[in-house]
Amino acid sequence: MTRVVHKFGGSSLSSASRYQAVAQIVVGQCQLGDCVVVSAAGKTTNTLVKLWQSYQQQEQQSFNDILLQVENHQIELINALFQGEKQRQLADILLTELQVITQAANTKTLNEAELLAHGELWSARILANYLSESGLQAQAIDARTLFTVHNGQLVHQQNKQACLATLDNDHIFVVTGFIAADDQGNTVTLGRNGSDYSATLLANYSDAEAVSIWTDTQGVFSTDPRKVSNAIKYPKVCREQANLLARLGNPVLHAKTLSPLKNTSIKLQVRSSFDPEAPGTEIVKAGYSKAKRFITSFDNLDLVRVDRLGVNEVREVSQLIQHSIHHFVQNGEEFLLLPGAFTHQVSQYFAGRLTLVESHLQGFALVAPKADISALELQAKSVLTEQDVVLRFAHSDEDYALFLTDQAIDSDVLAILHDKLVNKGRELAVIIAGLGNVGEVFLEQCQTQVARLQAQFDLKVVGLLRSQQMLFAASGLNLDNWQTQWQNEAQAYEQNEVLERIEELDYEHKVVVDITASESFSLLYPEFVKRDCHLISANKYAGTAQQDWYLSLRQQLEERNLLWRYNTSVGAGLPVNFALADLQNSGDKITQVEGVFSGTLSWLCSEYDGSKAFSDLVLEAQAMGYTEPDPREDLSGRDMQRKLLILARELGLSLDVDDIDLEPLMPEHLATGSWQDFLAKKDELDAFYETKFAQAKANHCELRYTGLLSIAEGGKVDAKVGIAFAEQGSAIANLTPGDNIFVVKTLWYDANPLVIQGPGAGKEVTAAGIHSDLFWLCQNLK
Ligand code: ASP
Ligand code: MG
Repeated sequence: MTRVVHKFGGSSLSSASRYQAVAQIVVGQCQLGDCVVVSAAGKTTNTLVKLWQSYQQQEQQSFNDILLQVENHQIELINALFQGEKQRQLADILLTELQVITQAANTKTLNEAELLAHGELWSARILANYLSESGLQAQAIDARTLFTVHNGQLVHQQNKQACLATLDNDHIFVVTGFIAADDQGNTVTLGRNGSDYSATLLANYSDAEAVSIWTDTQGVFSTDPRKVSNAIKYPKVCREQANLLARLGNPVLHAKTLSPLKNTSIKLQVRSSFDPEAPGTEIVKAGYSKAKRFITSFDNLDLVRVDRLGVNEVREVSQLIQHSIHHFVQNGEEFLLLPGAFTHQVSQYFAGRLTLVESHLQGFALVAPKADISALELQAKSVLTEQDVVLRFAHSDEDYALFLTDQAIDSDVLAILHDKLVNKGRELAVIIAGLGNVGEVFLEQCQTQVARLQAQFDLKVVGLLRSQQMLFAASGLNLDNWQTQWQNEAQAYEQNEVLERIEELDYEHKVVVDITASESFSLLYPEFVKRDCHLISANKYAGTAQQDWYLSLRQQLEERNLLWRYNTSVGAGLPVNFALADLQNSGDKITQVEGVFSGTLSWLCSEYDGSKAFSDLVLEAQAMGYTEPDPREDLSGRDMQRKLLILARELGLSLDVDDIDLEPLMPEHLATGSWQDFLAKKDELDAFYETKFAQAKANHCELRYTGLLSIAEGGKVDAKVGIAFAEQGSAIANLTPGDNIFVVKTLWYDANPLVIQGPGAGKEVTAAGIHSDLFWLCQNLK
């Protein structure tokens, strides 16, 4: 029995390498008994439509040219995907079919639907053969043997029987989309873009559990992501809205696709064959997802009014032109929105009952929750006025509004509309991992911050994670008594469960705030990104990870339009990253960053005056909790090395941690061995420090431990962490014990550098720094 029906559209099969990618998805996702529905490869149907037109217009030369083009395309695929006997065999079958087409054209017996059907037949044959060569039990099926149409209507009962009889559990079936047969066995088509409909029909007939529509976008977006970069990918869309979008010409969801799913619990997903790991959009039953906001733009439509419109006429006309048509009633009159190219044909159909109201219309439709429509409609109109776009016709219903205009809605205007109409009222789900000192303060501060953020964003804390337990509340936790809720409801979890819970969240935006001290948690970042989460990190793990891993994370974030902040990983709440970014954005050039980025080392060096042994100061600092449990962690300088790496990467430099020279603040040989061994040799540390201190004094300098990054004129980068002699009177020499300092030199801040100084640790300032990242995120999601 069919479990899942997968459907791959033309763009997923546009080249040999795309077929290979699809085969990989099938291998990874399909079980025996599953079905794979395919459309014609690339733009094959368009080419076949042109072939048909040249046949009708008796343009022999262009007919031959187009046919040759079709042949070359198919042969190219066959040659790239197969070898030897198989290649010859498939090429022979193709050439015979093309000869039959030529003969039919010569004898004037060519049939349109039969001609168009070839696109899907070829795809199914190639894919099934390719899968078989990869060792799968794959079989191509011509959907004309499964789907019968009688008087223009599918004969569901009969089709269901045909499907149940044919689709066994021993194969993966590769079924042609788009085509069916009438009761005489003649080919009929299900309308342009009809393969999605084939897939959902097949799922219905074969009692499948789910349908996955694999396409070239990652799912259903708030608007066209190719035009508006911050278009939102919705994890869930309810069937009602999906239907409406389809009627309004949304490029991902097509008319009729959803109808076979009515009254079934078959799941529908839209996913990207270019990025099979990415979660797509799930189309869920009414009531299982909140209503969302969408903008779909149109071009070249004609608005017509029809007198005495019959019940089935819209369906018949849309069948005739093989296109969906939007129909609405205004003031008792029936209107249709037609693709301009078909108005003539449709007007003939209505024989005198059709009046052209407006032609060559552009514009857009806004789909939104019922409660928002009327306010949004007014806002949309004022945006159009501001942008000098002339409105020629408007219509609104309870769940959408149409704006038909003179000029095309270009990407700039679309982006403004999207910002004002869709992005407002968006929701951000916050998942907080790590509820230690800083995490708790962060949550406390949330109560006041949420009110501030809510002005632009509907922000909800939906998940809390500790290493052992998690608490998720999809509609948001009550921040006033999260502790009680945690005590009563937190549960032990496996890693997968966290990912599942995050994936399920029905929010426009999600952010994982990592306040853990766990490297293994940072390794999950790519998984969060796959689930469309933005990231905020308060630790250094991911920011200082191996460059390959780091760059691939960055790339994945960028591909999905996601943001990542980790401002507090260097200097806690001090606004270092902001300052560096601002300087660069203002056109200045950073030539050097020097500083002390460790509170412990800052304190030790500033306190030392020779009156006490250095090791005594170290022990004092340890007793006050200023150091790591083994203070050699601090003295090693590795923490500062990692912070310098983060700063360097923020400046766009490609560096790994080992590219930064490291000189520890202790003799090298003391680094190994136990803490007790170290204590036994503390005199060596003291002698080491004393010598350096004396050298500094002799040079009229203060001994400091600094990180230094310099970028020479030609771009050469020097990075090191180690002992430095700071000139007396300089900012680094005057450093308040315990403070962090960043001294930034640029073209414009050169003789007199920019200095940022203050506490670089502490739970309040760190938590506030994370809030600053969150605020930044909200602003940048606008
Ligand atoms: N190949 C057909 C078309 O281009 C059907 C489909 O793509 O769904 O319209
Ligand atoms: Mg298609």
